[in-house]
Amino acid sequence: MKTTDVIVVGGGLIGGAIALQLARRKLRVLLLDRQATGHEASWAAAGMLTPSPETPDAIALVPLAKASLELYAEFVTEVEALSGKTTGFRREGIIQAFFLENARRELNTFVALSHGVGLAAEVMTVGEARQLEPALNPAAKAVAFLPDEGVVDNRALTRATLAAAATAGAEIRADARATAISVEGKQCRGVITTGETIAARHVVVAAGCYSAQIRGVERYAPVRPVRGQMVALRPAAFELDHAIKSERGYIVPRDDGRVLAGSTLEHAGFEKHVTPAGLRHILGAAMEIAPALADAPVIESWAGLRPDTPDHLPILGPTDLEGLLMATGHYRNGILLAPITARLISEWIAEGTVSLPAEKFSPLRFLANAATAGI
Ligand SMILES: Cc1cc2nc3c(=O)[nH]c(=O)nc-3n(C[C@H](O)[C@H](O)[C@H](O)COP(=O)(O)OP(=O)(O)OC[C@H]3O[C@@H](n4cnc5c(N)ncnc54)[C@H](O)[C@@H]3O)c2cc1C
Repeated sequence: MKTTDVIVVGGGLIGGAIALQLARRKLRVLLLDRQATGHEASWAAAGMLTPSPETPDAIALVPLAKASLELYAEFVTEVEALSGKTTGFRREGIIQAFFLENARRELNTFVALSHGVGLAAEVMTVGEARQLEPALNPAAKAVAFLPDEGVVDNRALTRATLAAAATAGAEIRADARATAISVEGKQCRGVITTGETIAARHVVVAAGCYSAQIRGVERYAPVRPVRGQMVALRPAAFELDHAIKSERGYIVPRDDGRVLAGSTLEHAGFEKHVTPAGLRHILGAAMEIAPALADAPVIESWAGLRPDTPDHLPILGPTDLEGLLMATGHYRNGILLAPITARLISEWIAEGTVSLPAEKFSPLRFLANAATAGI
C-alpha cells in the first residue's frame, strides 16, 4: 500500500496552496483530484481580494480575510518564483459605487462598517472616481475607494500554485477521486480512491463544494454549492485598471484587456450551466457600472459552484478523528483566503498549534447537528 505523510484531497487553489506549504516544510505530499486539477470554483471565480463584509454574516470572517490579504504579496512572490508563471496580482484598490435610491445612506453605512472592522474605505466624489476609472458611469450616486484591496487572475494563480507545489516536491495526481476516508477507531489512516487505498498520517479535505460527497467527511463539512455565473468581455473603448463593485454586480480587469463581469448567487444544485436570466442580470449590472461595455464583444461565459456552509464561514482545522483536517467551505472568499488557509493547515500539521484564533471555523461546530440528522 502506498504511504505518504499528507494526502490533500482536491486540487483547487486551496488544495494547491496547502500542498505547496507542506512540501516547503519537507513533508511528503500527495494531492488527489477527481478530474484535471484547477477546473472548479478556483477557475470560475472573479479573483477579487476584498475583505469588506458584504453582509452582517461576513463580519466574523474579516480578521481572517485581513490576515490573508496581508500574506498575499509574499504568497504570490513565492508562487511566481517557484513556478516561473505570472498571476496578474495587483493591489491598487477597488472602487465601490452606489447607484440605488438610498445611495448616500448605503455609502455611510458601508464606510462606518468598514472602519468599525479596521478596513480602509475613503469617500470619493464620482468625479474623483472617474479620474481613476473614466469608464465609471457618471450617474453613480456615491463612491468609496478601498485602497488596500486588489485582484488576481485566479485561473493563472491556481495553475501557478499547483506548478509551484510540484516544484517544491508535492506529487499531483489527476483523475483520482477520493470516495471515502479510511478510519480505524478514532484515527483517520488515509484515503480510499476508486482504485486503491492510500495510507497517510494526515488527510486534508479541500474538495470545495464536493467535500460532503466523500464518505466519512459529510458530518464535518456540510457544504453545499451556490452557483455563480460570469461573463468575459473585451472592450475596445477603454482599459480598466481597478475592479468596480456596485450593489448589483462587479467588473474586474485582467492583464490581457478582458473585463470579467459577475455574478449570481443561485441554489441550483451541482448544475453549472449559464442561463439567460443570469446573463441578463450580470450584463445589466455591468452596463450600469460602465455604460461603454454595451458595445464590447462578449467572449466567454461560464458558471462555477461556491462551497457554502450553514453559517457561511469556512471549515478549517482538525476534526475529532486523529489525522483528519478540513480546509473547505470558503464560499465567496476562497481566492482571498488561500494564503491564510495554507498557513493555518500547515501549522496544525507541522506544529500542532496555530498563530491565529481559529476556533469559530472548527469542523466540530457542526457535529451536534450531524448527530440530530443521523449522519
Ligand atoms: C462565480 C464565482 C466568483 C467568485 N469570486 C471570488 C472572488 O472574487 N474572490 C474570492 O476570494 N473568491 C471568489 N469565489 C469563491 C472561490 O472561487 C472559492 O471559494 C474557491 O475557489 C474555493 O477553492 P477550493 O480549492 O476549495 O475549491 P475548488 O476550486 O472547487 O476545488 C476543489 C477541487 O476538489 C476536487 N474534488 C472534488 N471532489 C473530489 C474528490 N472526491 N476526490 C478528489 N478531488 C475532488 C475538484 O475536482 C476540484 O478540483 C468565487 C466563486 C465563484 C463560483
